[in-house]
Amino acid sequence: VLKDGGRIAGRRFDLSSVEPTLTSFPSLVLIFSCCLAQKTPEPREVAPAPSFEGNPFAEEFADPVSRIVGRAILQNRAFERLDHLCTKIGGRLTGSENAEKAVDWCIATMKADGFDDARGEKVIVPVWVRGEEVVSMTAPQSMKLAACALGGSIGTLEGPIEAAVVEVEDIAGIRKLARDQVEGRIVYFNRRMQRDNPEFGYGVTVQNRSRGAIEAAMKGAVACAIRAVGTDEMNYPHTGMMGYDRVVPRIPAVAIGSEHADVLHSLLSQNVEVRLSVSLGAHTLPDAESANVVAEIKGREKPEEIVAIGGHLDSWDLGQGAIDDGAGCVIAWEAARLLLELDLRPRRTVRVVLFMNEESGLRGAAAYAETHAEELSRHVAAIESDGGADWPTGFSFGWNHTEGQAAGLVRVQQIGALLQGIGANRVRQGGSGGADLSPIHDVGVPCLGLNQDSSYYFDYHHSPEDTIDKVDPHRLSLNVAAMAAMTYVLAEMETALNSH
Ligand SMILES: [Zn+2]
Repeated sequence: VLKDGGRIAGRRFDLSSVEPTLTSFPSLVLIFSCCLAQKTPEPREVAPAPSFEGNPFAEEFADPVSRIVGRAILQNRAFERLDHLCTKIGGRLTGSENAEKAVDWCIATMKADGFDDARGEKVIVPVWVRGEEVVSMTAPQSMKLAACALGGSIGTLEGPIEAAVVEVEDIAGIRKLARDQVEGRIVYFNRRMQRDNPEFGYGVTVQNRSRGAIEAAMKGAVACAIRAVGTDEMNYPHTGMMGYDRVVPRIPAVAIGSEHADVLHSLLSQNVEVRLSVSLGAHTLPDAESANVVAEIKGREKPEEIVAIGGHLDSWDLGQGAIDDGAGCVIAWEAARLLLELDLRPRRTVRVVLFMNEESGLRGAAAYAETHAEELSRHVAAIESDGGADWPTGFSFGWNHTEGQAAGLVRVQQIGALLQGIGANRVRQGGSGGADLSPIHDVGVPCLGLNQDSSYYFDYHHSPEDTIDKVDPHRLSLNVAAMAAMTYVLAEMETALNSH
């Protein structure tokens, strides 16, 4: 209501013209009577002040961490940079002109920031182009649908595909159908992602996106449509990478926005014949050269030991790539820049890495692991932020090292405890820190993910609504604070995290 106002057909309300009803006399009477009816409230439970007793990091690091947090929340530089990425450059689909503009702008700006080195490191990337796309219902009524091609989909270069639709819930559902129930049709996968319900969370729902076209084509389908993977109930689609199998025919695949998905599901569950027409200009061009952006603060005493921090610079093309993952990029970048500003040059090197091509191939992640193969044993830790820009809650920690991981976890929890004051102190075990870190996690680098409250993340993820207005500058600054504090301690502490 606050962001969009009233939604009377054909017009928008101006909220400023609405009188706040609380000032009216009957409301006051009501509020007053309610107060009288209530017992004296219990004293509010206040979270205990952080106790650092027995925490070996508290004495040495409470002071620099306070300075980092204090300075981070006094300024909005991360937000200003995200705003530039989002509104002056825009969505940064791998291989697009925008992605290259972003690489150039980041390197130039990082140089001006005073990093010891700011450079691009070559990555050969796939180039997928969306083109013009129209998805319509042709029966029982004519209606253009809020839909988009899934990333990597083939197009309909020989003309639109028009066919009857058969609905299933998920991959198990299509496997149960006989070939003659599917052949020549468009398969519609209807599974809905649910907010705060891990049973129907992203990992489960996204199966339809990644395997739907393969499973549908195996039964002879001519196209695949899925209910868009998102937690919103609005009418915009969410894109994202889909998969093909080398030995299964390729068919086009689209995602449909929630409201139109409801229409399809409602008609199909009444056994009404529904027909769709799919026209996609999507196509893939030859691989092209792009880059990971890398910038450093050389270590004061042990420059050869590295704490790598980052996010991914590429995004999907429908929106601006604000929460996914422009936010992660500016969080890592500004965290390092803040250390420069505060003159906190740590013992070890802090390296900012803005990965290219996370969304459609992880080529930047692979290129980083390859280019820096010889240094990986000297990466004492890596941190990625790829979960949006909402309140920071803490970190995940994954270290592929049987003897070291338990002690490593305790140390990361002790450092995390210094961030209790901003609510970013929860450290949980598991994961690779982020998709871009998985190749270096696999070879033994201790990896952390900066975690955010993700309640609303999938409302906007991969959709046209992933835009700068979804990012709160203060929460973004708190993420910078958490990233900077963790990075500083890991790069400064006497015994490296990866020693055991
Ligand atoms: Zn991402």
